[in-house]
Amino acid sequence: MIRLHDTLAREKREFVPADPKRITMYVCGPTVYGRAHIGNARPAVVFDTLARLIRHDFGEDSLVYARNVTDVDDKIIAAAEAEGVDPSVITERYERFYLEDMGALGVRPPDLAPHATQEIGPMVALIARLIETGNAYAAEGHVLFSVPSDPDYGDLSKRDRDAMIAGARVEVAPYKRDPADFVLWKPSPQGVIGWDSPWGRGRPGWHLECSAMIAAHLGETIDIHGGGLDLIFPHHENEIAQSRCAHGGAPLARYWVHNGFVDMGAEKMSKSLGNIVTPEDLLKSHRGETLRLALLSAHYRQPLPWTEALIAQAKATLDGLYRKAGDADPGEVDEGVLDALRDDLNTPLALSRLAQLEGATLRASAQLLGLLGSTSADWFQGDGDSSDVDARIAERAEAKKNRDFAAADLIRDELKAEGIILEDGPGGTTWRRE
Ligand SMILES: [Zn+2]
Repeated sequence: MIRLHDTLAREKREFVPADPKRITMYVCGPTVYGRAHIGNARPAVVFDTLARLIRHDFGEDSLVYARNVTDVDDKIIAAAEAEGVDPSVITERYERFYLEDMGALGVRPPDLAPHATQEIGPMVALIARLIETGNAYAAEGHVLFSVPSDPDYGDLSKRDRDAMIAGARVEVAPYKRDPADFVLWKPSPQGVIGWDSPWGRGRPGWHLECSAMIAAHLGETIDIHGGGLDLIFPHHENEIAQSRCAHGGAPLARYWVHNGFVDMGAEKMSKSLGNIVTPEDLLKSHRGETLRLALLSAHYRQPLPWTEALIAQAKATLDGLYRKAGDADPGEVDEGVLDALRDDLNTPLALSRLAQLEGATLRASAQLLGLLGSTSADWFQGDGDSSDVDARIAERAEAKKNRDFAAADLIRDELKAEGIILEDGPGGTTWRRE
């Protein structure tokens, strides 16, 4: 029996899916306008681990896991304008980087990855429905959700009205009937990405896409909705309001699961604070599995202070585990590890239990956490010298400059065979271990 802490209930609850043959989980995914930082990687790793546990307990095909890609957003538009390219150039580049970075951390791709720009029809239909039910109104090219029309608004974040208005951190636009009202649709001026709608050419507000995609792909009520703590308000509160009001009061999710932040010293890691550490940089000197173990070393609901010592500890732990696993193939998963994970995904307890295991049981139990995927021989060989990688990247750049693309491709392929992945970006070529 899995137990999960449900943010809405404010307690751990037994996880009883509505249909154990088709368990539905949705996690808010990346807005693709820049490289992910290690704080963005935490929910990807946490919910990947939860997905592995659910598949272990309920069956490999029991789960439909969806994680969206926000590919229309003001930050994307700004990044595209800054580079003088179409927004799709930005979104395709950074979605690819995101998938590569998460893949390096052992995160399996979700079953569904709906993209906002591909789901405008369901979003427009959802807005029309909310206008019909009296929960939304059009004003000056915008459509707004009327917060006072939903008496249950605020249940998830338990905020009072003043805190909600202050927390929304938006200037009160003249077209809003109430300062807490939020945007479902906004106008796009000429030259800015937009779609025709009954309210004029425009684009969706951010909160709308998740409600529309969940209904379209998973159903009106899903089992688990996940994301970082920072999404509880306003994003998830707004998702709940939109979905519940459009669906005759049906709840959006039966369990709300939120992960804590990755901290840098006393601060939350965030792009706006400029204190980010990216998997891209970390993967130059550490393997993805080390970073994954570091991310799982604290309970997912707790803050995780990110330090060099944490990474070094994770590497030492993995060295020890690989030594004790030896050449063994995976056997049965240890019950102690399962008990720990089933108790609200208690990964620190599961990791301490792993340290007491060896051989086939250790390997199977670690793989449930997405660890010990390599052979022990490969793991220890991975420490080998790679100081000539930069020299070979320079050689390849020289070959490309001389339009000797065959030679350039050969260097790329040779490095790939050694587990070194090259990435060409606007700032030149970087590399990481596979
Ligand atoms: Zn969302």
